[in-house]
Order: sequence, then structure tokens, then C-alpha cells
Amino acid sequence: MSLLEAQERLRQQHLEWFRNHYKEQFGESTLREQEELVSGVEPNHQRPDWDLYYVNMLPQIGMRATCNRGRSGCIITDQEHHIIMTGYVGAPPGMPHCDEVGHKYEWRLDYDPFGATGFDLDDMHRHCIRTTHAESNSIYSAAKKGIALENSILYCTMTPCQRCAEAIVQSGIKRVVTAREYHDTAPAVEYFKQGGVELLTVGGKIEYKA
Ligand SMILES: [Zn+2]
Ligand SMILES: [Zn+2]
Repeated sequence: MSLLEAQERLRQQHLEWFRNHYKEQFGESTLREQEELVSGVEPNHQRPDWDLYYVNMLPQIGMRATCNRGRSGCIITDQEHHIIMTGYVGAPPGMPHCDEVGHKYEWRLDYDPFGATGFDLDDMHRHCIRTTHAESNSIYSAAKKGIALENSILYCTMTPCQRCAEAIVQSGIKRVVTAREYHDTAPAVEYFKQGGVELLTVGGKIEYKA
């Protein structure tokens, strides 16, 4: 077989692979799609922007999370959109995971019980504290490897909690993009406003899970 013949065979194999791949994704191709496939000209293809690109990856990263109260994922990128670090919610290395031994709950009240509004027992919320959150885990992993996060962008499943917001501001991250809005966004919003961190939420609100 000549080099040209070998190249043509490889090209046909690639085309075949693409056709099968498209068939799996979209069903039988239309003639226009076939033409686009062969010519490479596909003006209607919708490219996600960088925010959507990374937000769409978060569920996959969260698959390795070990607490079912929110299998959160996190991606940190630099300003040129290269991935610096990823992380997910889970117990620190060597410690048991929620999936193995169950959640470790702490009850919290989001306001001062001695304040003017008084105190209602129904306002007590329980939080699982066995895990390190996806955002903090990603920041700690970068620290472990000596990777600077100054001016980086952080993508995460929901609005960060106060502790993660502190870590985000303190590590110099400049922009946070979340897939969903957590039921209580006030602590993070306040930290980000004061700390000069831009916050963007692309999805809807997540209600509190009792
Ligand atoms: Zn848990
Ligand atoms: Zn957190």
C-alpha cells in the first residue's frame, strides 16, 4: 500500500468513526450534517463559552465526592482558561467518608439568637462537617503543590459557604462562577463584595436539604 493509499484509508476510518459517533449522539445524520461532517464547515455548531464549558464539567468531577448532601465539584483555572486544579467534597485523606460511615452533623443558627428578632427552633439547620468542601479542597491541593492561585477563576457547583469564601478571598482568586445558587448566599456575597471577588451564578437556586 502506498503512502497516499494509507492516508486515504486512515481518512475514511476517521470519517467512519465520526459518523458513528454522531449517530450515537444525534441519531441518523441529515444530509446537511453529513455534508458538514465531510467538508468540516459547520456554521451552526454552538460552542459553549468558557464559563459554560467548565460549569458543564462540574457534575463529572462531583462524581468522586463522598457526601450525598451535595456531590459538589470544583475547577480552578488561570486567566487564560487553563485548568490549574480540580477538587470535590470529601473527608481529608485517611479519614472515613460519609458514604462509608454516615454524615457528621453540626447544628447551626444563621443569626444571633439573642438579637431583636428572637429565636425560633425551626431556624436551626444541620450541616455535615465530616467533609472538606470542593472549593477548599481545590485550594488546599494547590497549596500542597505550591501553585499560586492569585488572579485565578474558580468554578463550583453552588455558592460557596463562608469558610470557602474566606479561603477564596485569602488565596487571591478573583472570579467565582457557580452552577447553582445555594439557599443561603449572604456570607459568600458579603465576603466577595468586600474582598473584590466577582461572583456569577448561571443556574437556579438550591433549597435547603434538612
Ligand atoms: Zn456528609
Ligand atoms: Zn464550603
